[in-house]
Amino acid sequence: ASTHSKKPSWLRVKLPIGQEYARVRNIVDEYKLHTICQSGNCPNMGECWGAGTATFMILGNVCTRSCTFCAVATGRPNEYDADEPRRVAEAIKLMGVKHAVITSVNRDELKDRGAEVWYQTVVQVKEASPTTTIETLIPDTKGNWDALYRMIEGGQEVVSHNMETVERLYRNVRPQAKYARSLEQTKRTKEFGKRTKSGIMLGLGETQEEVFKAMDDLVENGLDVLTLGQYLQPTKMHHEVIEWVHPDTFAMYKEEGLKRGLQYVESGALVRSSYHAEKHI
Ligand code: SF4
Ligand code: SF4
Repeated sequence: ASTHSKKPSWLRVKLPIGQEYARVRNIVDEYKLHTICQSGNCPNMGECWGAGTATFMILGNVCTRSCTFCAVATGRPNEYDADEPRRVAEAIKLMGVKHAVITSVNRDELKDRGAEVWYQTVVQVKEASPTTTIETLIPDTKGNWDALYRMIEGGQEVVSHNMETVERLYRNVRPQAKYARSLEQTKRTKEFGKRTKSGIMLGLGETQEEVFKAMDDLVENGLDVLTLGQYLQPTKMHHEVIEWVHPDTFAMYKEEGLKRGLQYVESGALVRSSYHAEKHI
């Protein structure tokens, strides 16, 4: 059954206030950067920004895709900004981020899917902050494997690619993506020698059996780290919340994931793919 009821108590969080939060906000604004924390209205901003961390979104804030859960605007993006890698690197240095998480919109209209900007960003962050570890949450390169390898060869420690949901719901939730292609991307990333990570949102109408199947498929394709969190509807125009998944169910999934051989499973209502990311290196 669908639910229009108020959020359960375990989803209520503190408001983002405090000096460190303000400092991160100022740097993000000054360097004209985008964060997935803001565009996704993430409930953890108080905690993450208060601890001096944020997830930067590169390659603009307009996406060529239209995933039904996502608050990022869909359209034809502008020319990409070749100076962005430098600004991301400076902002991360200034913020003193120990573990940086970087993601991007999909740029399906670019032949290289934005891989060169990705590569430059990783290299420049490493140059500016040599001890900072990097997790890149990359888009699906639509089967352009050369673009994938360019995206992941800059020296990042972790490469994430989110499955987002179970196979049956792809057409509705990620209409321009393909379940098998996203699995293959993880497999190739693992074979390339990278630590692999993925995320699935719960509460979109999936069954438990389907979640187990997704876990099995991910393990088979070389996944190391999995995050599971509650889907929250960003606006009334987006996919409905079908279910508020109970904390006990999240705990059960964590056990099931570990049993299946995953090295690390972060599972909880407020978990986002970048939440506690520093532990997944
Ligand atoms: Fe940003 Fe991720 Fe933290 Fe949310 S969990 S505030 S998206 S870094
Ligand atoms: Fe949002 Fe990523 Fe889907 Fe684009 S590809 S709509 S940024 S989830």
